[in-house]
Amino acid sequence: MSNTMTFPTYRGDMEYVCLGCDARYPIDQLHYTCPKCKGVFLLQDNNFSELEKTSGAAWRELFDMRAATKNPALRGIFRFYELMAPVVSQEDIVYLGEGNTPITHASPALEQKIAHRMAFKNDGQNPSASFKDRGMACAFSYLRHLVAKHDWEHVITICASTGDTSASAALYAAYVGDPLKSVVLLPQGKVTAQQLSQPLGSGATVLEIPGVFDDCMKVVEHLADHYRVALLNSKNAWRILGQESYAFEVAQWYDWDMAGKAIFVPIGNAGNITAIMCGFLKLHRLGIIDTLPRIFGVQSEHADPVFRYYAQPNDSRAYAPVKVQPSVAQAAMIGNPVSFPRVKKLVDDYVALGGDGIFQVVQVREQRIIESMLLANRHGHISCTQGGECLAGLLKAKELGLIGDELAILDATAHALKFAGFQDQYYQNSFDAEYGITPDPALANAPKLVIGADEKKMLSESAYTVKAAENVVKTLGLSARSDS
Ligand SMILES: *Cc1c(COP(=O)(O)O)cnc(C)c1O
Ligand SMILES: [Zn+2]
Repeated sequence: MSNTMTFPTYRGDMEYVCLGCDARYPIDQLHYTCPKCKGVFLLQDNNFSELEKTSGAAWRELFDMRAATKNPALRGIFRFYELMAPVVSQEDIVYLGEGNTPITHASPALEQKIAHRMAFKNDGQNPSASFKDRGMACAFSYLRHLVAKHDWEHVITICASTGDTSASAALYAAYVGDPLKSVVLLPQGKVTAQQLSQPLGSGATVLEIPGVFDDCMKVVEHLADHYRVALLNSKNAWRILGQESYAFEVAQWYDWDMAGKAIFVPIGNAGNITAIMCGFLKLHRLGIIDTLPRIFGVQSEHADPVFRYYAQPNDSRAYAPVKVQPSVAQAAMIGNPVSFPRVKKLVDDYVALGGDGIFQVVQVREQRIIESMLLANRHGHISCTQGGECLAGLLKAKELGLIGDELAILDATAHALKFAGFQDQYYQNSFDAEYGITPDPALANAPKLVIGADEKKMLSESAYTVKAAENVVKTLGLSARSDS
């Protein structure tokens, strides 16, 4: 078996399918919303029944074999090429190391503390440090395919962002280069300094407006409707496809056995949870898994439209956007999720197969979100605030009796470092009142100065070293080595 596996020969026959009116559109153009009804799209492979002719066992074997390939085009999310975007060729595929992120089982002490078996999947260990890279790798591969096909000369890629979409879009655009040029639109002051530094560093044009994400989204939607731009928000259905790889990787890690597992996902624009449900449904349809895992969506009390929708009785649910309040789960601070219609459709399909209770949405408090993040990170995990939101969601699900002894797999959607500012605010008790967070001083951590600069000036170099060491000894209460 060669390590550079040959590229798959299967090609799909893909179409955009409108979830509003079932209209179908060819994929040789960029579409974001249905020209007829403004509905959102999912991409469908009309040849999918061809894939069903291969047994689940044969698929599992193929994907397991591909996990060892050194062919970059098949190393990332396109390990699952046939289920992803089987219209792009090997040369189109952009691989920057996305996907294949580790699943880290809870540290023994953390597991004992929360009294539940759980693991984090660290999607912060993607190239731009969030799961958004999964979707961008797919969207940019398809874009490269289109650009080559039409011989386009200038392509402006644009997105609105709570921070991570723009970081990811700018990174992939910078890598692909001409004729792509990246423009990102951010809510002024509502992305972290680290997230802002990312598109700036990648050389994107960074535009800001006052307001929140939902305001930015309206502007880029207007642009996408009236001008020639490539929209990279999750309205772009190619991003949803790429993000399905999260589900495929979780299933593969647990040897394709999803029985007794529950996946916790933070919901912002709802693209990620849509993709994860799509992914598991595909695996199920091909017989690659025979049980669907349970899915728990988690929302902050400060941005909870999806929670509110599912909290209503089954037969009289009405969707309404909410006005968001400041949230430490800032990347999910969205009041009118673009992918809500997708969630609705997918949940119906998911529940039809898996029964009531297979899909749940829980709502969590800001205080719990930040403290869950701190708790996870103090036990050696690398959780962002949205990963903390998932842990808060697990605790809430336990309190409400919604979860039994299932293994909980929590999505740490970004790297903790991107949200270090919220950790600082907690430690320094400097949150604005609107967050509704009262820090516990016992959890604060701060650097301790061992010796002052003035004192340093008075001492010789060697005396300074000894004095500093003596101060450390006093601080820590160290006892001498027996042989010294
Ligand atoms: C985008 C994002 C989310 C929300 O995901 P959606 O697909 O918008 O629901 C959660 N966490 C992080 C870190 C993100 O960047
Ligand atoms: Zn339509």
